[in-house]
Amino acid sequence: TTEMPAPDPDRPLPTVSPLRILLAEDNKVNQTLAVALLTRVGHHVTVAGDGRAALEALEGGEFDMVLMDVQMPELDGLEATRAIRARETGDERIPILAMTAHAMKGDRERCIAAGMDDYISKPIDPRALHLAIAQLSGQRVSTGSPRRTAPPFDHAKALYHVGGDPEILGQLVDMFLTQS
Ligand code: MN
Repeated sequence: TTEMPAPDPDRPLPTVSPLRILLAEDNKVNQTLAVALLTRVGHHVTVAGDGRAALEALEGGEFDMVLMDVQMPELDGLEATRAIRARETGDERIPILAMTAHAMKGDRERCIAAGMDDYISKPIDPRALHLAIAQLSGQRVSTGSPRRTAPPFDHAKALYHVGGDPEILGQLVDMFLTQS
C-alpha cells in the first residue's frame, strides 16, 4: 500500500538496485516521462504500447517488475494483468504496479482484484513512483542523506504550458532532469 507522499524537495528519492522494468503505457508523453524517471536511477526499461504488446514482451524477455497503465487500447491494464496472473505457475509472481489517470474511488480495489500489487495515480509523482517500486522490489530502500532535489515534476501542468506538444515536453523533461 502506497499513499501519495507529500512533495518534499529536501528529501532524496528512495532508490533500489537496477531493475528490469516493463513499462506498459500507451501515452507517448507518459512513456517519455516514466522512462526518464526510471532510467535516471539506473533501471532498464522496455516500453510496450498496449496490454497485448506487454504480454508479448513478457513472453520474450526477463523482467523484475511491470508498470501497468490501466487505460490502454487492445488489452487494458486490468485484462493484461489477469492474463499475466493466469499464465504464472508455482511460486512465480512478477510485481505489477498499476498507474491510472483517474484516481477514482474503487480504482485500487479493481486493480488489486485484477492481480496488481500496488497502485499510483497519474500524473506520476516521482517520489511515489520510486517508493512503490522500492516496496514492491522487496529491496532495502536507500535514501542516503538529505540533499537538495528538484521539486516534483507536474507533467500535466508542463504539458499545458507547452501547448500539449509531447515532443517539446520531452525536451522539457530532459532539461528538468539535467538541472536537478
Ligand atoms: Mn493510457
